[in-house]
Order: sequence, then C-alpha cells, then structure tokens
Amino acid sequence: MKCEIISVGTELLLGEIANTDAQTISLGLSELGINVYHHTVVGDNPKRLAEVMETAKKRSDIIITTGGLGPTADDLTKETIASCFGKKLYLDKPQLERMYKRMGRNITKNNERQVMLPEGCEILENDWGTAPGCAFYAEGCHVIMLPGPPSECTPMFKNRARPYLERLCTDGQVIRSRFIKVFGLGESAMEEKIRELMDTMENPTVAPYAKEGECEIRVTAKAAGEEEAYGIIDPIVEKIKGILGDVVYGVDVSSLEETVVKGLIDKGLTISTAESCTGGLIGKRITDISGCSGCYFGGVVSYSNDVKHKVLGVGEKTLRDFGAVSPETAIEMARGVRKLTGSDIGISVTGVAGPGGGSEEKPVGTVYIGISAQGLDKVIKPELRSARTRARIRNMSAGHALDLVRREILLK
Ligand code: ATP
Repeated sequence: MKCEIISVGTELLLGEIANTDAQTISLGLSELGINVYHHTVVGDNPKRLAEVMETAKKRSDIIITTGGLGPTADDLTKETIASCFGKKLYLDKPQLERMYKRMGRNITKNNERQVMLPEGCEILENDWGTAPGCAFYAEGCHVIMLPGPPSECTPMFKNRARPYLERLCTDGQVIRSRFIKVFGLGESAMEEKIRELMDTMENPTVAPYAKEGECEIRVTAKAAGEEEAYGIIDPIVEKIKGILGDVVYGVDVSSLEETVVKGLIDKGLTISTAESCTGGLIGKRITDISGCSGCYFGGVVSYSNDVKHKVLGVGEKTLRDFGAVSPETAIEMARGVRKLTGSDIGISVTGVAGPGGGSEEKPVGTVYIGISAQGLDKVIKPELRSARTRARIRNMSAGHALDLVRREILLK
C-alpha cells in the first residue's frame, strides 16, 4: 500500500509552523508497515488542493489529509475533496447533536459546516475538538481527513485513523513492530551487515532508518494476534542483535540516555558530568529522563580553564603542557567531578566544536571524552569527521559520552 500525506494550510507554506502532523502520521504509518511515498503541502486554496488530489489519486492507495476541517471560510478540505470524487456533502444530524452537547451554546452556520460530511463516508469522531474527521473509499483510493491542530490530529490518528488502516492492511490480522536502536555504526555499514535479511524477509520485514547520529532498525510482522506477531519478530530481533553486536543499545527504548539512566539505577551506581564544549548537553539529556535523580548527582559546565582548574582541580601544569583539549585534561575533569560530587562515575567532554578555534594539531571535531570510576580511568577520541557543524559535533559528543558509560559500566 502506498500512502501520501497532504497537509492543507497556508501557514505551513509560509513557514510559520512546521509540518509536525505529517511527521506524526508518517511515524505511525511506518509502525504499521505502510510505505509513505509523498508528503505534499498545499495552501488553503480549493483549486490547488483539487490539483494535488488529482495527482495523489493516481499514484497512491491511501491519501491522508490534515487541516482545513474548521469552521472558517478558508477551511475547504471536505468540500474540495468530496467534489474531486464526485461526492456531495450532507449535514450529519447526530454529529450536529454531538456538537450542541459539546459546545453548549448557540451554534452558528459556520459551525454547522464542520458537520457537513461526504456522503457514504465513515465518520471519525473527534473527542479532542469540534470538527469530526472522515474516511471513504472511492476510485481505488482510501481517503482519510484529519483536523490540523496537533492536539487533535495526533489522537485522531492514533485512535481513529490507525484502527481504520489496520483493518485495511491486515484483513483482520494485527501488525506489530519492534525497534532496534543502534549507536556507533553508520547507516551504510549497518545496512551492509543486515542487507541479506532486508532483501529476503517478507514477514517480518526489516527496515533501517538513520537518525541524528544514530540508526534504528524496524522489524514488523503481520499475524493473527499480538503474541504470534512478537513470536515472529523476536527471533529476528535476536538474530540482528547477534549480527550487530554491542552497537545495539536497546530494543523498544526511547533513547540512549534512557538506557544509561535505567542501567545505572539498576546497578545502584551514581554519575556526575564535567562538560566543556557540550555546555551541559549530557546533563540535559540525562535529566530528560524522568527518575534520573536515582543516578545523577549533577554537573559542572567548565568552559574556561579557570573553572576547569578551580572547580574541577585540573592541574595548571596539565592545562599549560597539554592544553584544555587533550586526553590529560579530559581525564582530570572526569576524576575532578567525581571527587567533587562523590558520585561513583565521572564523565567529561572537552573538544573543539568549531566553526572557529581549530588548529592543524587540533582541528574542529577534535574531542576527548573521559570516564573515571573505581578501577577505571579511560579517555576516548571519537571519530567526528562526518559531523561537520557545531551542533552535530556537540550532539554526537554527548552521544559518545553516554555510549562510553554504557560500554564501560553497563556492559561490564
Ligand atoms: P480548526 O478547527 O482549528 O480550524 P482545522 O482542521 O481547520 O482546525 P487548520 O485551520 O488547518 O485546521 O489549522 C489549525 C491550526 O493547527 C493551525 O493554525 C496550526 O497551528 C495547526 N496546524 C495545522 N496543520 C498543521 C500541521 N500539518 N502540522 C502542525 N500544525 C498544524
């Protein structure tokens, strides 16, 4: 099944808002194993929406639209799409009643327009706003219309569109996925290792994705029930974990920081951070995880040499002889923050994030990450040549620091 998402809204074209609805829906479709071939954005203009629909009809099996279901004059999605499929709109009385109950005030003619629906459609009740969505099948195409505000679109997709789609592509069966999370292996290197599985497997299917500094593999199966689906998926997940080894940091976990925080709590260990070029990013990522107080003591953003020396106790001689960006400084920072806070583990980052400040000896992207714990003093220099921008160098440095904790503490 080929799906296309059409987002209706002039504010999207003007760049005033980002198309997060399309992102949410695409993520949901990928969990269902439905391929999305096109994202289209079109303004609140019936002629251009009709043109876009004509194109979509020819190339897609499922069209999902967002936006333009509201009561104002520019909300024309339903009228336009119904007419593209030669359908009339009718006033749905039960939906009107529902609207009366919800709004509890006099309903205007404009509000009534929200419950004008294409004849023969399945109504997708909107418990999160006023305009119902709808779905119908015509001319070989399934059309699903959802409201624009993300606070409505997201639950409408999850609770209304998703069950409709599950019925379509499963013939009463269920579709389930697991997500294997990978850090420290590029997308092409990963693909090469699992290419045979990707090419030969049909149920489950195996599909890789590249994310910011990380990769993910989705394993999706169709089966008569949930247990059976996971029974098909799990041996393949194990097989992939066996092929990829310790670059896999988790299955169905939200992030590397979640794995690290949960792992440290399980082991009863505490950690603190000393950050220079990442400016607190590692601390931020750790504290994104609820419950992190069970392992995180705190951190020092030691950007200047003075703070590295006075707060963390990095030797003046170390800074003078080797420089702030050096393995010697990195390990003294890690030891220093561990001593300062009394945590079991200290982790540190110092580097040149650029774009300025690089030299021939220490070009932009030179980063040292230190870890100190009982019986452990180690520094790594991650390969960040591909990172290029300041933001990516900082993000990837934070990722490597978290991964170092995972490898040196959790896997041992
Ligand atoms: P309403 O009843 O609020 O008018 P609607 O279905 O008509 O709902 P729109 O009028 O198109 O939706 O959009 C309402 C608001 O929802 C927009 O101003 C915008 O803030 C948000 N929105 C619309 N489309 C998107 C989108 N694709 N991604 C993120 N936000 C969106």
